[in-house]
Amino acid sequence: MSATPVTLQPRPVDPSPVDPSVDHEIQAIVAGELTTETCTTDLAAGPWTFDTRPGYGPGSSMGDVIPTGAPRQGELPAEYREAGEEELAARIVAAKATLGDRVVVLGHFYQREEVVTHADYVGDSFQLANAALEHPEAEAIVFCGVHFMAETADLLSRPEQSVILPNLAAGCSMADMADIDQVEECWEQLADVYGDMDTPDVEGLLPVIPVTYMNSSAAIKGFVGRHGGIVCTSSNARTVLEWAFARGRRVLFFPDQHLGRNTAKAMGVPLERMPMWNPRKPLGGSTEADLEDARVILWHGFCSVHRRFTVDQIAQARAEHPGVRVIVHPECPMDVVDAADEAGSTDYIRKAIAAATEPTTFAIGTEINLVQRLAAQFPQHEIFCLDPVVCPCSTMYRIHPGYLAWVLEGLVAGEVRNRIQVPSDVAVPARIALERMLAAKP
Ligand code: SF4
Repeated sequence: MSATPVTLQPRPVDPSPVDPSVDHEIQAIVAGELTTETCTTDLAAGPWTFDTRPGYGPGSSMGDVIPTGAPRQGELPAEYREAGEEELAARIVAAKATLGDRVVVLGHFYQREEVVTHADYVGDSFQLANAALEHPEAEAIVFCGVHFMAETADLLSRPEQSVILPNLAAGCSMADMADIDQVEECWEQLADVYGDMDTPDVEGLLPVIPVTYMNSSAAIKGFVGRHGGIVCTSSNARTVLEWAFARGRRVLFFPDQHLGRNTAKAMGVPLERMPMWNPRKPLGGSTEADLEDARVILWHGFCSVHRRFTVDQIAQARAEHPGVRVIVHPECPMDVVDAADEAGSTDYIRKAIAAATEPTTFAIGTEINLVQRLAAQFPQHEIFCLDPVVCPCSTMYRIHPGYLAWVLEGLVAGEVRNRIQVPSDVAVPARIALERMLAAKP
């Protein structure tokens, strides 16, 4: 899987007629120039405003509980906080030009436009980790995404390469919902129900195969690797579940209940055989009989960006735009996926729009930065976000051009700032889980 190369260009001074910048839209809403709604006017402030406060910051995850000990970002120097958009763009371009092949900048699909415009590659988390692999000559990989993505890039890159996350507070509320201590505790409780977890039965099947979504910490990927399990992405979840069912009676799927449920349901697993594991309840809130009968045990996690999409929004889109094609991400709740015309990964959504030969109206259920960029890239189509309220991913939003300029100018000065390094006792089994995924064939 390779990522999409993009031409390196500074942000144009005069935006194109379709401005892909969600930040510009938020600033205009807060200034009263637009009547569109935003979920919080705090989004108009610089992310450094929130670095001293607890929580994920404004946006979709602002109501989620951030774990104790989640990484914090130190104060960004004033020269970066006070610089305007054009100055920061010019400084980023200059630093990149000085560094040349010594650095590669990766931008996630959900990242703000003012950052993506400087990315050498734009893609989903796994595509971007692979893009890093294509640059063994780069001393530094600047990952403009969230924490687990930088960890994955560190797992897949060479040890002498530094992976940098421009703002350490850019975590992921969904990944944080699967805490390694809670997962270890869950495994012990499941062992009390199923007995020996490491010895296959007479049919050669283990009681449970753990499967983790790419959107999880390296610690969880390491856990999965140690217990015969595997990683999946939203693109290959079905193939990975088939791999797991060939080796185990059941799957323990984390952190995203919705991706697990939507994928298993499409494979014919009945809903009553997919109990939820709530880590705050004994046996996850299920009975022993439920767990014995389970095919997929779903961890109680979700993405607060994709949980915002509703069946009512789809009904409204269909009423207002007859013939609209509704595509949603499989992290959306099951009723939303069922009501949509199609569900697929960010890459699926992008390719579906690119492949449409006739002018089409698309209502998209995924993060708004990607939707607005697609609307700007494909002006022959009408493309809009299903959620009318502008509410980006809180943690992607924490990466601002000020932080990107700060880490790049650090590299120019010979200083590696905000390096993300996975300890080797975690990295070795985590790589095994990733390698199993790469080897799993459809
Ligand atoms: S969109 Fe959801 S899963 Fe992706 S980084 Fe944001 S909170 Fe995490």
